[in-house]
Amino acid sequence: MQNTEARVIVALDYPDRAKAEALVDRLDPSLCRLKVGKEMFTRFGPPLVEELRKRGFEIFLDLKFHDIPNTVAAACDAAADLEVWMMNLHASGGRRMMEAARERLEQRSHRPLLVAVTILTSLTGDEIAEVGYRGEPAESVLRLAKLTHASGLDGVVCSPLEAVEIRREIGDEFLLVTPGVRPKSATQDDQRRVMTPGEAINAGSSYLVVGRPITAAENPIQALKGINTEIAGQR
Ligand code: C5P
Repeated sequence: MQNTEARVIVALDYPDRAKAEALVDRLDPSLCRLKVGKEMFTRFGPPLVEELRKRGFEIFLDLKFHDIPNTVAAACDAAADLEVWMMNLHASGGRRMMEAARERLEQRSHRPLLVAVTILTSLTGDEIAEVGYRGEPAESVLRLAKLTHASGLDGVVCSPLEAVEIRREIGDEFLLVTPGVRPKSATQDDQRRVMTPGEAINAGSSYLVVGRPITAAENPIQALKGINTEIAGQR
């Protein structure tokens, strides 16, 4: 793991670039990384990523690729050209898609981390069944996490509630990137199944994706430092 001090990834979810940059100006690249997702990347593209990198931040490009192997491998290569720290794809794209992406990235001198989404945590059990997954959702999540590991990827994005079992089954080296984290003092917003930062680290999480508890805080750097202190207390 690089920079072990910064285990928080701040989710930048803004329709407005100036607002995002104003928030970033109040953060510190030695204390967190930044996640750029579909909304901001679709609006502002590679120049936004370049600007954030210029300010010293490592970037998780959260575009969740899912397509035929050749297309996903090429998209991952393009994302790596932006010198991002981490990127992701959907494990349900299958082994060949994941291997193609990993192999393409391995041709580079410096390879970004590549992680997979198993099953979106927004889906209910009924919705998961409706798209055709059989059995308990947790079994499907674990199966896809194992497939991700067998395909040579670095880890998965998962709910902290799924982290314990994935960590137990797959071992210590596999990265678990977990959203759905709320400090004790924060509101849940639209997140339903949440853990505190300390609980998520205890559950085996490697990196915590935190949005509104930091981005909507009156004092974002203080909120970030509070979370980092809580994490440090768990090590
Ligand atoms: O503001 P909040 O902390 O809820 O933001 C969490 C971030 O993590 C958002 O960018 C959201 O899209 C993302 N995310 C999530 N749950 C998932 C996957 C991603 O909340 N299962």
